[in-house]
Amino acid sequence: MRIRRLKLSGFKSFVEPTELRIEPGLTGVVGPNGCGKSNLLEAIRWVMGEGSPKSLRGDGMEDVIFAGTATRPARDFAEVSMLVDRDSDEGESGEGEVTRRIERGAGSAYRIDGRDVRAKDVALLFADAATGAHSPALVSQGKIASIIAAKPTERRLLLEEAAGISGLHARRKDAEQKLRAAEANLARLSELLSDQE
Ligand code: ATP
Repeated sequence: MRIRRLKLSGFKSFVEPTELRIEPGLTGVVGPNGCGKSNLLEAIRWVMGEGSPKSLRGDGMEDVIFAGTATRPARDFAEVSMLVDRDSDEGESGEGEVTRRIERGAGSAYRIDGRDVRAKDVALLFADAATGAHSPALVSQGKIASIIAAKPTERRLLLEEAAGISGLHARRKDAEQKLRAAEANLARLSELLSDQE
């Protein structure tokens, strides 16, 4: 999977609609301290489904919405869209656009190619491509130090992400839940049958 374009509106310091094209080759983002470079990486993690406000340097998820300045009022929503190219071995191939939007008091909503989807669908899309909000490919400030200090189980998660099997884990959890529900139904059915005998 390759990120082709990022569109932000009302996300952190990006109050105006902003578009960042990522062309083949190396893309660098340069600018003075505090201009929003880390906010861009956080936008990528956020649209991929990041669920922890703390890891986006906030106290609550609504902290990603532009909070206003002395001259500009705060915004009521933040939206990030990411256009990606999917490889043929990632299920559906071709371009796809994932959007996440948060409104004050209304929480987050996700869309894939304009269709409303669940957070889980977005997580699976990226997990199948061996990437996602917690991908080791997204290296934020302080991440290297935390990997060095990580426990073996935390390091195993990193290796599993890199090996591209975290999507399988999510599906296994789903399958186990369905199996438990089916077993409960079977048990209920045999109770009903023995009542009738
Ligand atoms: P450095 O080079 O120092 O690491 P940077 O370019 O990575 O800086 P960021 O940390 O991405 O900069 O951006 C920080 C800026 O974003 C700060 O000016 C902060 O006020 C602003 N900011 C963060 N959240 C919001 C928000 N919700 N609303 C408005 N501005 C925000």
